[in-house]
Amino acid sequence: MNWHYRCATCDTTYAIAPGRYLCDQCAQLQQADRPLQGILEAHWDGDAPAPGAIPLPVEAAWFPSIPVGNTPLWAPERLRGDFAAPKLWLKDDTCNPSGSFKDRASYLVAAFARKYGLGEIVLASTGNAASSMAAVGAAAGLKVKVFLPASAPVAKRIQVLQYGAELVSVDGTYDQAFDLSLEYSGETGALSRNTAYNPLTIEGKKTVAFEIVDDLLKVDAGVPGHVFVPVGDGVILAGVYRGFENLVKLGRIAKVPVIWACQAEGSSAIARAWASPHCASDAFGPPQRSRTVADSIAVDVPRNGLHALGKLRRYGGQAVTVSDGEILAAQKTLAAGSGLFAEPSSSAAFAGWLKVRARLPAEENCVVLITGSGLKDIASAAQGLGVKL
Ligand SMILES: *Cc1c(COP(=O)(O)O)cnc(C)c1O
Repeated sequence: MNWHYRCATCDTTYAIAPGRYLCDQCAQLQQADRPLQGILEAHWDGDAPAPGAIPLPVEAAWFPSIPVGNTPLWAPERLRGDFAAPKLWLKDDTCNPSGSFKDRASYLVAAFARKYGLGEIVLASTGNAASSMAAVGAAAGLKVKVFLPASAPVAKRIQVLQYGAELVSVDGTYDQAFDLSLEYSGETGALSRNTAYNPLTIEGKKTVAFEIVDDLLKVDAGVPGHVFVPVGDGVILAGVYRGFENLVKLGRIAKVPVIWACQAEGSSAIARAWASPHCASDAFGPPQRSRTVADSIAVDVPRNGLHALGKLRRYGGQAVTVSDGEILAAQKTLAAGSGLFAEPSSSAAFAGWLKVRARLPAEENCVVLITGSGLKDIASAAQGLGVKL
């Protein structure tokens, strides 16, 4: 297989090599405080991968020995009964080594760093990308430096330190941490794992779509009809789309399922853009200060907003917003009804499903992505229960 990057906006192609992050032409359109311009996607020409294999732009030999992905797909019988939803499924990415979906991206970025002999990875994060890269970096023997807002949940900060990464606490927002980490990689040449900016973060996350299709096939359950994705920067959303696009290209499924972008009301830039009558490039207005209990999906400027919006519009995707009250109630409903304790961001995806489930055909498979463990943010979970810590 021959791999290259292709600009999602103008189709210019680039070699996949260190230092390449965005499309040179389209990045010039970048405005301050708006989603990134010039997002690149990984594409291949030539042979299809071996039957059943997931096509990836870094060879298997470079991946570190840490078991990322291949997470369980739950058939939650009590929730199915309670909500008369016989085709509800939970994709449990809390089972990843660092407890979140982010490991899928970190795993590919680490493999890339090893292939090209890059010794240091730097990133900004709301918390999970940092703890994830730190974990995978520890397995791979890579130096990891993270810029984290001081407000990040304590469990995520402690994870970073336990895994031996360097933590720079930023007295500001995630958006400010993002800019600081880019300055650092620009000055030092360290590999940036900033979400969306590094195209491999989108590419690494596509593996979940392959697993969902395979998991359903194994139990003879058909194809996914609807997938509920918690959305902040829109990289998981785009990764899920890339996976399904690949699966269509390979003839393994006939069409891309309906993807539901689930956002918190207090951090809903992509849902607002989706609902706006404007073309993608005008759909994102000035940033609104995010405010939600779901820290992992709290972003003022969704870095992958333009790209994610393009996918939603192209494939008839949907968006739904949920309040913090709905998120915390859904967290409890999910945990008590299935045994799966999810952090608030993932609970937002479940809350999104709860909100729209009456509109969905009963015979179609609905998969909710449970992206992070509830143990990562005990303070919010306690708040949901009205328990004082
Ligand atoms: C990062 C994250 C999300 C949101 O992903 P985006 O790519 O920012 O949209 C959702 N859930 C969890 C647990 C996360 O860590």
